[in-house]
Amino acid sequence: MTQPIRVTIWNEFRHEKTKPVVAELYPEGIHGAIAAGIAADGLTIRTATLDEPEHGLTQDVLDATDVLLWWGHMSHHEVSDAVVDRVQRRVLDGMGLVVLHSGHHAKVFRRLMGTSCDLAWREADAGERERLWVVDPGHPIAEGIGACIELPATEMYGEPFDIPEPEALVFISWFQGGEVFRSGCCYRRGRGRIFYFRPGHETFPIYYDEQVLRVIANAVRWTAPAHGEGARPSVINRRTPLEPGAPAQTRDQ
Ligand code: ZN
Repeated sequence: MTQPIRVTIWNEFRHEKTKPVVAELYPEGIHGAIAAGIAADGLTIRTATLDEPEHGLTQDVLDATDVLLWWGHMSHHEVSDAVVDRVQRRVLDGMGLVVLHSGHHAKVFRRLMGTSCDLAWREADAGERERLWVVDPGHPIAEGIGACIELPATEMYGEPFDIPEPEALVFISWFQGGEVFRSGCCYRRGRGRIFYFRPGHETFPIYYDEQVLRVIANAVRWTAPAHGEGARPSVINRRTPLEPGAPAQTRDQ
């Protein structure tokens, strides 16, 4: 039997404490809704939030995490650089990272992308309709999703989205207001896999949508480390060549 995938769902957990509409929608927090929504055999799930010591992401927690989910919005700047460094190192060493919605501006995502991750946005009070079209139906993250996911009320995110060219693009969103957006983007950094997934504004019940949860669960499985063998490449001074008779390095530098 294969080992369960160890998932940590990180949520800034501030809107739920300060906005009644969000508290009503997500009484257990966004992290609690996602944890309940993706619960399945083969996953062990824990949660962590900004106000815990070290934001709940101690080295021990990260070392015991195969896939980290990240939801943040109003308090990106409060995430300590030491924790960002730690998460980045774990991704380079093979931990999966699934960044949700406004996490596009999270320090850790910008660090890993190397770009501003800026985008266009519009928050209509009643929201607007969004269709996430599957543009890579064979991708494991699209498994079980039909031609598109339709969300009746969302915040709009539009292009240009200042990200590096995705290594695979799984979803493109269309919005009622006319914009389009690259909503499901795959990357690799070091040994780690990263997936950015757009849906999830805090004032809409998006993390109860079965197809959205299905994509997140698929992304957890796709970003999980493929195997634990080997190590992230590091500097190796191989002074003696493998082939007999080939020239060796004799100087120290
Ligand atoms: Zn939002």
